[in-house]
Amino acid sequence: MELRLHDTLTREKRTFVPLDPNNVRMYVCGPTVYDFAHIGNARPVIVFDVLFRLLRHLYGEAHVKYVRNITDVDDKINDRAARDFPGLPLNEAIRKVTEQTGKQFHADVDALGALRPTVEPRATEHIGEMRELIEKLVAGGFAYVAEDHVLFSPQAMNAANSVLPRYGALSNRSLDEMVAGARVDVAPYKKGNTDFVLWKPSKPGEPSWPSPAGIKAEGRPGWHIECSAMAWKHLGEHFDIHGGGIDLVFPHHENEVAQSCCAFHQERMANYWMHNGFLQVESEKMSKSLGNFITIHELLAEWPGEVLRLNMLKTQYRSPIDWTVKSLEESAKTLDDWYRVAADVAPGKPAASVVESLLDDLNTPQAIAALHGLRGNDIAGLAGSLRLLGFLSESAAQWESRKQQASGIDAKEVERLIAERTAARSRKDFKESDRIRDLLATMGVAIKDSKEGTTWEIAR
Ligand code: AMP
Ligand code: ZN
Repeated sequence: MELRLHDTLTREKRTFVPLDPNNVRMYVCGPTVYDFAHIGNARPVIVFDVLFRLLRHLYGEAHVKYVRNITDVDDKINDRAARDFPGLPLNEAIRKVTEQTGKQFHADVDALGALRPTVEPRATEHIGEMRELIEKLVAGGFAYVAEDHVLFSPQAMNAANSVLPRYGALSNRSLDEMVAGARVDVAPYKKGNTDFVLWKPSKPGEPSWPSPAGIKAEGRPGWHIECSAMAWKHLGEHFDIHGGGIDLVFPHHENEVAQSCCAFHQERMANYWMHNGFLQVESEKMSKSLGNFITIHELLAEWPGEVLRLNMLKTQYRSPIDWTVKSLEESAKTLDDWYRVAADVAPGKPAASVVESLLDDLNTPQAIAALHGLRGNDIAGLAGSLRLLGFLSESAAQWESRKQQASGIDAKEVERLIAERTAARSRKDFKESDRIRDLLATMGVAIKDSKEGTTWEIAR
């Protein structure tokens, strides 16, 4: 049995061969800490947690190193700090924002059953490594200084006659096309319109550090160099797996590869590039303006974290997910059943059918089908497999009591009222049906009528 993973760079599923089986190394881009994480952000957290658990199962817990960074220097953080703590000096306000948001992120992802990564480096603690990388890039002719900025030149990279990969290879774009299609209003100090920032001057009051490359004014790093520096520090120049959401392929990961490969004169940064698909809510793109933007924190007030986890894993990580209340309800029922039959049972070894599904590029829907298959005949195997996937962190009794406390809404009573309302509607007693709708609303239940019948959800 071997692990096969889909690699974004080669666009195929390949057998996973670690550089060193005693030290399997994975880097995943983490959150920018300025606000509550939304349910889309939970997807890479859960997906790469499953991969982390599988790698530990295959290579041994002590032989897998998982690094997920925390981006704590960013314009969005500065804006939030100025807005939320107008009375404080900006640097203090920024510390408050990043501390609070970081804590909240940990509380959320712990509740989702995600193991903490081996290392969670903060960008602000790796400015030295960023400066070092930038110096190497300038010395190698891949980057240049202009008006107190340091810029990376993709064209210099592609002109270099060496082992380096081609800029654009990861995202499958041609640099010539990018040059032709670039915006016309590029910053005047850029030599090429696809050049990107490695370092920039800080505005007064913003966090700032001594600059590299002989720049006198203090400044701060660009986003892409942060990940190259933290991955280098904790995983070395070349490691096994790099992951994140599909939106990060370009420009973030393309630029990470460019920086790391040019700094170390090598062909590859990571051997496998993995990207999760996007999550949408009730068939719509999640966005603040559409009002369907849901945070993990809000969902956790209504659903146990393991329900969110199972709901996420019902879709294979590369496919888009449509996040719906209906699917959450089904996930909750499934977990109720699994808790009842398997939570208090001595777990057996994870079943081969489950492990084999995961080995096939983390085919979690197939693994879940295999779990349903075990339900009838191998409860110990079910218990062991569920634990491998990060479920059953509580006893059956804890699960049941927490569930009742959390909802406060009696589902049976709701269904009874909906049936009464349906009956009233069919005898055209709209006064009565409206009365029941209002009653449900005061109970915190929202109902939706469609051709298929009436569904309900806890009103948000
Ligand atoms: P951000 O804080 O926006 O950089 O996102 C953190 C992580 O969440 C990145 O790996 C993103 O690719 C991922 N992500 C953001 N939005 C979504 C979404 N709607 N669906 C899936 N992944 C997402
Ligand atoms: Zn990154």
